[in-house]
Amino acid sequence: MTKRVLITGVAGFLGSHLTDALLSEGNSVVGIDNLSTGSLENLKHLQSEPRFDFHQHDICVPFDFDKIDYVFNFASPASPEDYSRLGIETLEVGSSGTRNALELASKYGAKFLHASTSECYGDPTIHPQPEEYWGNVNPVGPRSVYDEAKRFSEALVMAYHRYRKVDTRLVRIFNTYGPRLHAEDGRVISNFIVQALQRDDLTVYGDGSQTRSFCYVSDEIDGFLRLAHSDQHLPVNIGNPSEWTILDCARAVLRVTGSASRIVFKPLPVDDPTQRQPDITRARQLLGWEPKIDLETGLRLCLEYFQSRVAMNISAHEKTEFEKGLRR
Ligand code: NAD
Ligand code: UDP
Repeated sequence: MTKRVLITGVAGFLGSHLTDALLSEGNSVVGIDNLSTGSLENLKHLQSEPRFDFHQHDICVPFDFDKIDYVFNFASPASPEDYSRLGIETLEVGSSGTRNALELASKYGAKFLHASTSECYGDPTIHPQPEEYWGNVNPVGPRSVYDEAKRFSEALVMAYHRYRKVDTRLVRIFNTYGPRLHAEDGRVISNFIVQALQRDDLTVYGDGSQTRSFCYVSDEIDGFLRLAHSDQHLPVNIGNPSEWTILDCARAVLRVTGSASRIVFKPLPVDDPTQRQPDITRARQLLGWEPKIDLETGLRLCLEYFQSRVAMNISAHEKTEFEKGLRR
């Protein structure tokens, strides 16, 4: 049976890919976004799709777009640059926003899947991170607006499950990349690829020994769908366990792009986690999920997208310079 699905954060990187996947399954999608960090460009290909309906709306303000069967709650600034700029908004969307989305699911008896994060583990002291680990989060540091909002959202989701009997799911997402990742939101993969394509220096923060585990977007979305179709209420890590130092990641980007850019070192942001790797035993056992795409293959798959973003930026810059010239 096909469903009427509601996605918050639909114009973002993950929300837009999830929309494509849910439409392919035959569902109809009601998409909500306040466009604070996302872009309608990510949804342009759906302009004439009758099963897709977009509403520009801030989910911190209660909303109701008629009966729905499933809520996917993805709205939140996600990159460290975005949530640092939008600190209060990030806390609000992770509290009142998530609560409004849960109220809607409760009203219609809809299922609910919430996009949580590996940041719930903070700077982890256990490696790799299993779902049972409670984390090591600085509650007052610069990342706390995101980490604590996400942890509060998890508590809200579990409370609506326990007290209101909402049929909920929690996915802890580890660093994901792919086409439609914002070229300028400061995340490491987009920064490195754009820098390499523009022959700028690749900016490694700290000495580059900190690690991340990068998952290609199609693998990640496959994990979301499997979890959505399961009845697992406890958190599930979805991420690629292949762990990279940031310095090796920079070298991989140089190999894939064939760029002659140099690697330079810049100060490490405060509280930047030193290591991050998902333990995906639960996803393997419960969902039969396993990522398929390794980092270098994934980087190759996004090159064309980033090349077009770089070309657009260059042409926008040239246009401004040209117009400035006309005005001189
Ligand atoms: P993104 O910034 O591309 O997308 C987030 C979307 O939410 C944007 O379109 C933004 O405009 C929208 N939004 C923000 N506040 C809103 C509000 N108050 N009301 C309505 N819309 C709002 O980021 P993304 O990478 O696609 O992340 C999506 C979700 O996945 C986020 O909840 C994020 O925390 C989570 N996540 C992502 C990653 C990752 O690696 N991409 C990792 C962990 C968790
Ligand atoms: N990073 C970096 N150079 C950049 C951007 C990020 O070295 O230009 C590092 C950052 O310090 C962190 C890692 O790459 O250690 C991942 O950063 P990102 O912002 O993508 O996400 P995070 O996992 O920190 O939320």
